[in-house]
Amino acid sequence: MDSGAYRVKEGDTICVVGGGPGGAACAISLKREAARLGQTVRVVIYEEKRFDEDRRFNQCIGVLSPPIEDILLDKLGLELPARLIVREIEKYRLHSDRLSLDLAGDEDGKTYAVSRTGFDAFLLREARNLGVEVVHNQVVGLEVGPDEVLVYTDGENCRAAAIVGAFGLDEGAGRVFEHATPYRVPDYLNTIITRLYPGEDFLNRMGPVIQAFMLSFGGLEFGAITPKSDHISVNIAGRRVSSEVMLKFLRSAPVQRFLPPKQRAEKPLNYFTGRFPISQAAHLFGDRYVTIGDAAGLIRPFKGKGINSAILTGNFAARCILNAGVSRRAFKEVYMKDCEVFTQDLYYGKAMRLLANFSSRFGFMDRVLKMAGNDPVFMECMFNCVTAHKTYKEIIRETASLSLACKFVLEGFAHFILQRPAGPAPGGE
Ligand SMILES: Cc1cc2nc3c(=O)[nH]c(=O)nc-3n(C[C@H](O)[C@H](O)[C@H](O)COP(=O)(O)OP(=O)(O)OC[C@H]3O[C@@H](n4cnc5c(N)ncnc54)[C@H](O)[C@@H]3O)c2cc1C
Repeated sequence: MDSGAYRVKEGDTICVVGGGPGGAACAISLKREAARLGQTVRVVIYEEKRFDEDRRFNQCIGVLSPPIEDILLDKLGLELPARLIVREIEKYRLHSDRLSLDLAGDEDGKTYAVSRTGFDAFLLREARNLGVEVVHNQVVGLEVGPDEVLVYTDGENCRAAAIVGAFGLDEGAGRVFEHATPYRVPDYLNTIITRLYPGEDFLNRMGPVIQAFMLSFGGLEFGAITPKSDHISVNIAGRRVSSEVMLKFLRSAPVQRFLPPKQRAEKPLNYFTGRFPISQAAHLFGDRYVTIGDAAGLIRPFKGKGINSAILTGNFAARCILNAGVSRRAFKEVYMKDCEVFTQDLYYGKAMRLLANFSSRFGFMDRVLKMAGNDPVFMECMFNCVTAHKTYKEIIRETASLSLACKFVLEGFAHFILQRPAGPAPGGE
């Protein structure tokens, strides 16, 4: 597509800021694609953390869901090492204020809980094996010129033909990109995670089930409890989540049932805060720069699979850089075309998020769960929403029907006008 100045030439350097799943996947794809084209490119990843040392807690639950194994194999030529899997997840259970429902549906592939730092360390090692230079420095400045990019770090600096922003929602790196380019960080939700160590017996009794919660108290959009190897991870998300909201969540009746008796009244000591993008970044690409994964806000709206999206967008960016060039036009016509799988779903996802927030905020989620328990089509819809198995566009298309809309309106009438509580959900409580 590009000719001349914006083509990547033999021996050029591509610099990647961030060595999470997006950055590592992009670097691996750059090396593999270059080899396929019979070309040599130098790829440098700047990653400030050292995942191998497992020193810093990663803000992620570490659930890898389908089609992660296909993505790793098809896009990166990698197999997920069995040693990284701490648990195979078999089921999702959704809880509202009063009801609980096992979500039933089919996913093509398995869902795994892994150690997130272990997974990131694995991808970076694979990148290194292909000749990627991984430098543990922090990127502190950037100049994006018409002919090259200058990357400033807290160690040595680097000149590159293009820069890939794979820095997640890191505030400092976001500011560096905003300062040097028209890029603007995506809108996000705040998250808080805590870990509890309930002992082996309790974990075994919990089973391989992710407990997801949509409760009706302020500041909270959703929460979840995920069993890991020797602990459970509890996470909440919302615009204004805080340690206070976390405590309220932990003390709420639906959540208490899943906490070890001794820890039900405790205040956890360790909270970790993070962010979760809910919109696309503005100007997420331009001449000689492109952003991927969380930094680009290119993830499934409302509900995650953020690791899958980061790997996919990293791969799309690498293919564009080597085959079409590093101009704004190349990213617009090639990279963004590949990313349509995310961008086309954005408005549907926003609509679903609004509907879900409205339902939980006003206690209507009990009725939604009851309907899902009674109606297989609606059950499939809830399953796909929570697991993010299908696009929201597909979910809405497959679920929307006149009879379902009528049921929804009738339940809404009973809830908001007659103020009648929902009965139990079949298959739930
Ligand atoms: C609470 C929570 C739970 C989640 N759980 C899941 C889950 O279970 N499954 C799932 O698929 N997704 C989950 N996600 C989403 C997932 O974590 C992200 O979507 C995914 O990590 C995005 O990958 P990335 O490579 O774009 O960014 P990141 O993984 O954030 O990687 C960015 C990297 O850039 C580095 N970096 C940043 N700034 C600089 C700098 N200036 N210089 C050098 N390095 C820098 C950081 O150290 C980091 O390693 C969760 C998110 C949150 C907040």
